[in-house]
Amino acid sequence: MPSSFMNADGEQRVRVGWLIDGLGGPAQKDMVLVIRADRIASIEPWHPAQSMALDFSNATVLPPLMDAHVHLVFSGSVDPNVRSAQLEQSSVQAQAVIIKHLEQHWRYGVAAVRDGGDRDGAVLRCKQHKFLSAVAPVHVAATCWAWHVKGRYGKIVGRALPDNVSPAQALSLRREGIDHVKLMQSGINSIDRFGEQSRPQFGREELQALVAWAHDQMLPVMVHANGEAAVRLAVEAGCDSIEHGYFMGHDNLKRMADHGTVWVPTVMPMEAFAQAPGLTAAQRDVAHRTLEHQVDQISKAHQWGVTIALGTDAGGLGVDHGVSAWQELKLLMAAGLPLEVAIHCATANVANLMRLNRSGELLPGQVADFIVIPGSPGEALLELPQIQAMYLKGQRQNASTNL
Ligand SMILES: [Zn+2]
Repeated sequence: MPSSFMNADGEQRVRVGWLIDGLGGPAQKDMVLVIRADRIASIEPWHPAQSMALDFSNATVLPPLMDAHVHLVFSGSVDPNVRSAQLEQSSVQAQAVIIKHLEQHWRYGVAAVRDGGDRDGAVLRCKQHKFLSAVAPVHVAATCWAWHVKGRYGKIVGRALPDNVSPAQALSLRREGIDHVKLMQSGINSIDRFGEQSRPQFGREELQALVAWAHDQMLPVMVHANGEAAVRLAVEAGCDSIEHGYFMGHDNLKRMADHGTVWVPTVMPMEAFAQAPGLTAAQRDVAHRTLEHQVDQISKAHQWGVTIALGTDAGGLGVDHGVSAWQELKLLMAAGLPLEVAIHCATANVANLMRLNRSGELLPGQVADFIVIPGSPGEALLELPQIQAMYLKGQRQNASTNL
């Protein structure tokens, strides 16, 4: 922080047109963030007599977004040649792709991502080499690869649990350095038959053993699950988050509210899919109805008190890294969540799920991480936002991006 911005007490006062603090309450107009070193010392109403180090009076200030579900080794390209080449990329190629995608997140003000796995564990390897943080200081939570049942869906992002060892033993083989465990508990949504449900992958006892092992290691468990039976087993086994959760049904939403299970509804992939080239009219109709159904589930989840965390599944077909966090935010708002609540889902709820030491909230005592978007909240999100500035630990960032 240049010293000219600070007053004699080493404080920096930042005038803010609209402050969204990440707690979910309404934006506050004309506020001042007082920053001391890397933290927010206080938040006060603005007064004309005060001198300001920084003036963002025509802008909205909010915590950086976080994305609870990405696949950094894949791009959102809809070109089938690109998509199939991505499955064969070498570890050096994967490394370059991961860096590019982190830069994209950074450019769109996304400061933390939770990776949902790749079959070679490339993201974990990259994370273990410290160079990632030198490229773009996006926090990455990695899981090596996702685990699925042999012969079932999941090869694209993971590996089958070996059958000659117990599930817990299998997981412990890939434990070093991971931030969470990812399990595949269902298939993917059918694009030919609306609402078709795949049977669960893991049985009740197996799932309980996997979750218990992970929790013994202090590792949260994210579970890919669509459909009533798959979601129910995962919630009852005590998993930390349900990923996707399409067609899970109202009983599961209430069950998740009771258990405190977080839901990462990843609407964006279905939105992108509905627009993708090459679909028949019937498939496009299924995609649109599936999208509407998911938005309705989110609306119910919000009413019934389910904790929702924003996740995009970036890297999926048509889902680009970085920008998709804002697209997903708009889809949460389409389900009836007020802007500030949707931002709470994209900041504090993800931070809690990732067990970050930053809160994703702008409060006195918290680390001064924030982004600045021109205009009022309504204007700022009318179109996809241009990030005017990004601050981490009270320091303006520019890295190798346009920030
Ligand atoms: Zn995924």
